[in-house]
Amino acid sequence: MKENIKLLIELQKIDSAILKKKTIINTMPSKILAVDQSFKEVQSLYDKQKQKYELLEKKKRDKEKEVEDINERIKKIKARTSEIKTNKEYQAHLKEIETIEKERYAMEDEILVTMEEIDSTSKALKAEEIKIKAEKDKAEAFKKEVEKEIAEAEKELNDLKVKRVEIVKPVDAEIYNDYMTLLEACKGLAVTEVKDEICQGCNMNIPPQIFVEIKKNEEIIQCPQCRRILYWKEKNE
Ligand SMILES: [Zn+2]
Repeated sequence: MKENIKLLIELQKIDSAILKKKTIINTMPSKILAVDQSFKEVQSLYDKQKQKYELLEKKKRDKEKEVEDINERIKKIKARTSEIKTNKEYQAHLKEIETIEKERYAMEDEILVTMEEIDSTSKALKAEEIKIKAEKDKAEAFKKEVEKEIAEAEKELNDLKVKRVEIVKPVDAEIYNDYMTLLEACKGLAVTEVKDEICQGCNMNIPPQIFVEIKKNEEIIQCPQCRRILYWKEKNE
């Protein structure tokens, strides 16, 4: 195999490795985002539950205040008992107390119902709190893991770049420039194998006369369709 072809194959190998590593690094932040998003959803459910709980507590306090007000009113009405002169007035007086007491009973029933709701909401809230804590721990652990992976991948990428400098050194400048242009145009794959007379870059059938030339691995030959540099891999290579 001619040296140029060999060098280009090596170059493509390292560039593919670099591209793969970069792709891995680029997908990492979205992994963290996904975890953050799912945690936010759990948090938002919890916040809604908490809001409901607080509203119920407020409702209970308001009702209790109303009961206090009613009790105050009853006390005042009862205080007037001594001023009553006629039986008719007395009947009206009793009726008034009865009406207000009915109001109070209804209010107290509402308080009981609200207390039951508070109880069940509080239980749900506690369960949600445990869940949220577990989710948070899970998210933190995952983030740490991903950050570690990013650091490792970046170190590996750096090592690859250092190695690439050495691989590039013996490559002819003109060939290197053509290679770089192709690499850009062909989305990271400028040099590819021909397998069963098919370009592995674009799947085109290579005409027999070109294939014969490629099999020699002497000249730099490009695919008639995708322009990628083609080579032939010997079975024992
Ligand atoms: Zn092709």
